[in-house]
Amino acid sequence: MEYISQAVAKEDCFICDAAASEDDETNFVIGRTEHCIILLNKYPYNTGHLIVSPRRHVADITELNQAERDEVMDLTVRSVEQIRSEMQPHGFNLGANLGDVAGAGLPGHFHMHVVPRWTGDTNFMPVVGDAKVLPELLKETFRKLQGKLGPRP
Ligand SMILES: [Zn+2]
Repeated sequence: MEYISQAVAKEDCFICDAAASEDDETNFVIGRTEHCIILLNKYPYNTGHLIVSPRRHVADITELNQAERDEVMDLTVRSVEQIRSEMQPHGFNLGANLGDVAGAGLPGHFHMHVVPRWTGDTNFMPVVGDAKVLPELLKETFRKLQGKLGPRP
């Protein structure tokens, strides 16, 4: 289990930082539940790219307890619903990278990616990758989705 030994320490973990902070706007945290947080990816593959993560610093999907498994999946489904309603994408990529070798940007803390896709959006990537454009897009996405993904009513 080499990836666990290489895992990012809790102290250097932006998900743990965001979970502990009360500044949801700076951290782009759009929702919190008992066991999870939902935040925008600051380095998105596409506009609307968000992350659903357990609050607990655990590296692997198999380490999630049942309550975390339930919430991660529920919030993934509801993220798709919210993004669909707010941003009208044509499709989605959903998934998690487990371990460095699989491309995990933060191998120490499990997170599920929700990435909306639009027809032709491969051409859009250089635009969202522009450092001047990106912060505004993140703020706009934050305003659209913030507060809409909390605990189930
Ligand atoms: Zn963490």
